[in-house]
Amino acid sequence: MDTLLAQGAHIVQNVEDALVANPMFPLYAAAILILLVAWGIAHAVISAPVRAERKFAGILRDLDAVREKLNEAEKIGNLGSFLWDFENPSESFWSEEMYILCGLVSRKTPPTISAFIDTSHKEDRENAQTALDTAQKQPGSFSFVFRTVAPSGQVRYLRVHGMTILKVDKKPRRIQGVAHDITQETEVDRAKSEFVSLASHQLKTPLTSVKWFAEALLNGSVGELSAEQRKYVINMESANQNMIHIVNDLLNVSRIELGVLSMRYEDIDICELAQSVIEEQRQTANDKDVTLKLMCPSTSPHMNADRTLVRMVLQNLISNAVKYSMKNGRVECELTTSGVKRETILIRVSDTGIGIPKEEQPHIFEKLHRASNAKVHSPDGTGLGLYLVKTILERIAGGITFESAEGKGTTFFASIPLKAEEKTTADIKRDY
Ligand code: ADP
Repeated sequence: MDTLLAQGAHIVQNVEDALVANPMFPLYAAAILILLVAWGIAHAVISAPVRAERKFAGILRDLDAVREKLNEAEKIGNLGSFLWDFENPSESFWSEEMYILCGLVSRKTPPTISAFIDTSHKEDRENAQTALDTAQKQPGSFSFVFRTVAPSGQVRYLRVHGMTILKVDKKPRRIQGVAHDITQETEVDRAKSEFVSLASHQLKTPLTSVKWFAEALLNGSVGELSAEQRKYVINMESANQNMIHIVNDLLNVSRIELGVLSMRYEDIDICELAQSVIEEQRQTANDKDVTLKLMCPSTSPHMNADRTLVRMVLQNLISNAVKYSMKNGRVECELTTSGVKRETILIRVSDTGIGIPKEEQPHIFEKLHRASNAKVHSPDGTGLGLYLVKTILERIAGGITFESAEGKGTTFFASIPLKAEEKTTADIKRDY
C-alpha cells in the first residue's frame, strides 16, 4: 500500500515538474482559467431564464391557489368584490362571485360601473346611479342597497360597501368594495315585519275597546265608582294607553320597513305642526314643571311632505325630550331653514334631562335599544321611537345627529328637505 502511495506521489511530482518546467505553463493555466470562466458565464446565461421561468410559474401557481381560496371564501359568504380604477381602467376588475351575483358571465361583460348599474332593478336604477355618482365625488366609505336582476329574471338584494380614493384634483382615482347578497336576510326581515304588522294590527282592536270601556267607567256613564275602584281603573287605563303606544310604534316600524307606509305629499306649515305636537306634550311637561318652548322664524316655512311622517319625527323627538327631563327642566324646539335657497328645514330639540351615557351613544338609533339610565328613569319606553325617526328621515333624504352629556341634557339636530320626497331601496349612507 505504502509503495503504491509513494508511486502515485512520484507521478504527480513528475507531472508538476514537467508543467512548471514547461515555458508554456502560464499560457495553459490562463487558457484553462478563461475556459472555466466562460463555462460559468454560459451556464449562468443559459440557466437563468429557465430558473426565472420556473420561479414565475411557481408564483403563478401560488397566486392561482390564493385566488381560488378567495373565490371559495367569497362564494361561501355570498360576497363579490370589485375595483374600479379610473387612472388605469384596464386594472378594473370584478371577482368571479361578483359576476355571479349580478347574474352575468365573466369576460363577456366589462367590469365597469355602467355594466353594474345596468343590472339594477328598474325601480332602483336611479338611486343606484345617484349613489355611485356621489361615490365618485366624495372620498371615504359608502354603502347602499339595491336589487339586481339577472338575465334569467332572478332578483337579488345587494348591499354594496365601498371606499373612494380621490386624486388631488378631486377626480376619482379608484373605488374598491364588496357587494353582499342579502336577499335571504331581506326576505326573513320582511316576513318578520309582516308578522309584527299583522299581530299589532290585531291587537289594536281589543286595546281600543279596553280604552273606551275604561273611559266609560271613569266618566260615570255606567254608574259612580268608589275612590278605590276609580284608582284601579285609572291605572288600567294608563297601562292600556302605554300598550296602545307600543303597538302603534310596532305597527309604524313594520309598515315603514315593509315600504307600505303610503306617502301623501301635501303642503305643511311646519311651525303649525310643531305647535300642535308641543300642545300635546304640554300637560306632561307641566306635571314635571318642565318649560316647553317652540322657536320659529318670523315667516313659517312651508314644506311639501307627508304630514304623518313629519309629525312622527317631531312627536318622538319632543316627547322624548319631555320624558327624559328632570323636574324643573327646559325643553326647546327650534325650527330654521338652511341652504342657498333655504331648501332644508333644520329641527333642533334640546333638553336639560338625563342625557345619554357616552358608551351607549353609538347604539341609540338601533331598533329596541334603550340606554341604561333611560330604563331606570322611564321603564315604559319601547326603544323604537328613534329607530323610526332615523328610518323616516333616511326615506325622505333627511338626516339626524345629536349631542349629549349624561346628567346634563341632550340636543337632537334633524334636517328635512323642503321637498321631502321618498327615496326607494337604494338608500346611500356615508361616513367619513
Ligand atoms: P324610548 O321608547 O326608550 O324612549 P326611543 O327609541 O325614543 O325609545 O329612544 C331610544 C333611547 O334613546 C331611549 O331609551 C333613551 O335611552 C335615549 N334617548 C332618546 N331621547 C333622549 C333624550 N332626549 N334624552 C336622553 N335619552 C334619550
